[in-house]
Amino acid sequence: MKFNTKTIHGGQEHDPAYGAVMPPIYQTTTYAQSAPGGHKGYEYSRTHNPTRNALENAFASIENGKYGLAFSSGLASIDAVLKLLQPGDEVVSTNDLYGGTYRLFTKIYEDFGIKFHFIGMGNTKKIEEYITPDTKLIWVETPTNPMMNIIDIVAVSKIARKHDVLLAVDNTFATPYLQRPLDLGADIAMHSATKYLGGHSDVVMGALVVKDQGLANRLYFIQNASGAICGPQDAFLVLRGIKTLHVRMQRHCENGKAVAEFLAKHPKIKKVYWPGFETHPNHDIAKSQMDDFGGMVSFTTKENNYEEAIKIVKKLKVFTLAESLGGVESLAGHPASMTHASIPKEEREKTGVVDALIRLSVGIEDKFDLIEDLKMAIE
Ligand SMILES: *Cc1c(COP(=O)(O)O)cnc(C)c1O
Repeated sequence: MKFNTKTIHGGQEHDPAYGAVMPPIYQTTTYAQSAPGGHKGYEYSRTHNPTRNALENAFASIENGKYGLAFSSGLASIDAVLKLLQPGDEVVSTNDLYGGTYRLFTKIYEDFGIKFHFIGMGNTKKIEEYITPDTKLIWVETPTNPMMNIIDIVAVSKIARKHDVLLAVDNTFATPYLQRPLDLGADIAMHSATKYLGGHSDVVMGALVVKDQGLANRLYFIQNASGAICGPQDAFLVLRGIKTLHVRMQRHCENGKAVAEFLAKHPKIKKVYWPGFETHPNHDIAKSQMDDFGGMVSFTTKENNYEEAIKIVKKLKVFTLAESLGGVESLAGHPASMTHASIPKEEREKTGVVDALIRLSVGIEDKFDLIEDLKMAIE
């Protein structure tokens, strides 16, 4: 089955009771049993719920995995991965990553005795210098948020294999429409389904997809034992979102390209971060592991300061100043004071998240209106 069919049919069955084409929202905590243990595969909705299972099958299908898991948020899904570890274990992570992931690693899991090494992974050779016998996980986000750095997943997966370390890839920005980490050698594909998979800025949710049954069983155990599951209504909404993922992503990519190219030519703009430019330092890797370049674009102006960046984001009218990304509507953000405020200034500036940086989640409106809006705000 091709991707554009999988988004609609992958892992899906019509409802066995009445043939409903969409799985009903099974808004129930429990399931009647004919005798103790005499149930139809469902006992209690923390453990299993038919609506959630339909969504989890869709996650597995679009990521070319075997097992999908849905969580109450992207961070809850990352939290489940971290619970695979023991005190004393070490993690090698991308240094330029989602602020909340950094906060979870450093403010929660460091206290539980897990050691993190945050490094630039533009050159994957550096990773091996940080691998010790205690390293159990490599955490990769690509494209990175918000600097749009690209990490070579195949190269990292070879290192992970060699040292028998798990590789998890946060695939939120690319989505499986553009990039399938499990096909590139990763063990775990992770999503904030809040973003493109949901796609309509109305649900907070996380996802994990794996191929290995043993790993899946450990994660299902954590999902049930820790209990950070999503509700059936949210599962229904994300399942509905996935059905149009391919059409939305096509437009996000088209509009992202138009916006990036407009900004790059504008005399007031200093730098545009978008992996589709040939001048992007890892453009070749982006081309080899992604099918297109997505709708996320970051930039700085020549004034290159906080005041100018704030002035622009406040002036925008079609773009809404807001956290988050990946919805149908265009959003603008100021990472230093919004999504990345939890990272110390010194740390974030090392990776390029300066006060002058603006991040755009380019939506699926008419690109003419988006460009006019940016033009007005910049000029
Ligand atoms: C939003 C986001 C997360 C966190 O997901 P939530 O659903 O907000 O918990 C993790 N990684 C990336 C890249 C994100 O954009």
